Amino acid sequence: MIHAFIDPLVIETVTRLCESEIPKYQGEDYYNTIPRSLFTAMCDAGLGGLSIPEEYGGIAASATTSAAVFETISRYDVGPAIFLSVHTMVSGIISRHGSEEQKQIYLPKLASGELLAAFALTEPHAGSDTAAITTEAHLIPDGFSLNGNKCYITSAGFADIYLTFAKTEDDSTSGLSGFIVPATTPGLSWGKPEKKMGAELSPIASIFFDNATLPKNALIGALHGGRKVALSGLAGGRVNIAACANGLSRAAIEDSIAYMRERHQFGKSLVDFQGLQFMLADMHTKIAAAQLLTEKAAHDLDILANGDTTVNTKLSSSTAKCFATDAAMAITTDAVQLFGGAGYIKDYTVERYMRDAKMLQIVEGTNQIQRLIIAREIIE
Ligand SMILES: Cc1cc2nc3c(=O)[nH]c(=O)nc-3n(C[C@H](O)[C@H](O)[C@H](O)COP(=O)(O)OP(=O)(O)OC[C@H]3O[C@@H](n4cnc5c(N)ncnc54)[C@H](O)[C@@H]3O)c2cc1C
Repeated sequence: MIHAFIDPLVIETVTRLCESEIPKYQGEDYYNTIPRSLFTAMCDAGLGGLSIPEEYGGIAASATTSAAVFETISRYDVGPAIFLSVHTMVSGIISRHGSEEQKQIYLPKLASGELLAAFALTEPHAGSDTAAITTEAHLIPDGFSLNGNKCYITSAGFADIYLTFAKTEDDSTSGLSGFIVPATTPGLSWGKPEKKMGAELSPIASIFFDNATLPKNALIGALHGGRKVALSGLAGGRVNIAACANGLSRAAIEDSIAYMRERHQFGKSLVDFQGLQFMLADMHTKIAAAQLLTEKAAHDLDILANGDTTVNTKLSSSTAKCFATDAAMAITTDAVQLFGGAGYIKDYTVERYMRDAKMLQIVEGTNQIQRLIIAREIIE
């Protein structure tokens, strides 16, 4: 990645943090949990406040610096990068759309790590098709009553607040509203963490609303304005997922070269076989292109934040997400091949990278949905 707009101090801090903290939690004892001590260590390094203005205790990192942070964490483990990415997206949404009261209540605690945030949009019958959401919020005298359920929610059961989207109009698919739902809300509960293919340090679970009662000030943004609130977080989220993919790709390439130097067959080191060198060259070409697209998308978000509205961040973030995560899938699959039988064994790292890359093609809008967005944007 070209580090032109990246704060090198932040990246140095993140690298040290990952090297000292993440290995402590990469064992079965921690599968499908969020170790609070890991999240606290991340926030002590300032990472809880990446998208939070300094006046509320954050570090207000540029999108470019944030992308470099997510690439660095994912080089070590994609799990913490994913739950932090969701936390960062929610914090950014509250920073942009929250009332002054909401900002005062939540942002300092999200930055310090006292609160962990989750984003609850997906439902059993509303994944890619978010217009099919059926979770409903009804106006009651003192606020709202929520009924319905969400699934595959990152950090469910571990988060302290859930930014939840629910229908607030009976006859219109566009009548969505966003609510900040504290974990202590009466009528809110969650299921067991799902058993999933990878990302062991980033649990997902269903959450349930059974007449969950919220005060009026839980509403974020305008009533029925939830779609705008939700969408405002997605471009940044997609750039961060692209960056996570680049971290995985980097890990796969670096580990492959190290293994190939050591492993000898037919009297030669694996790195000396030209057929395998060509595979490495293709892996490098893909990650180099992915990093440039990610950097362009992050740069677009930064210049939009500085008032230049001519950039199409929807197009650049979907392009980066789609390309970088597809590249990570291809690169990590090739890494397993380069390791031979060892690549299929859990004692080596590359099978984990391959499982984690699959997730990145699905989250934050599947890559089919990214292609729909890209096509729509370039045709229009
Ligand atoms: C690890 C993980 C973490 C997640 N974290 C969160 C979270 O924190 N919050 C949250 O709200 N959600 C979360 N999700 C849910 C995720 O956003 C959805 O899984 C994703 O949006 C896809 O929805 P779906 O699973 O219902 O698949 P579907 O929408 O049912 O899609 C199935 C297949 O059909 C394709 N498809 C669907 N519609 C079209 C179309 N119009 N054209 C072409 N192809 C199409 C899809 O690309 C996919 O290949 C998470 C999921 C996972 C796996």
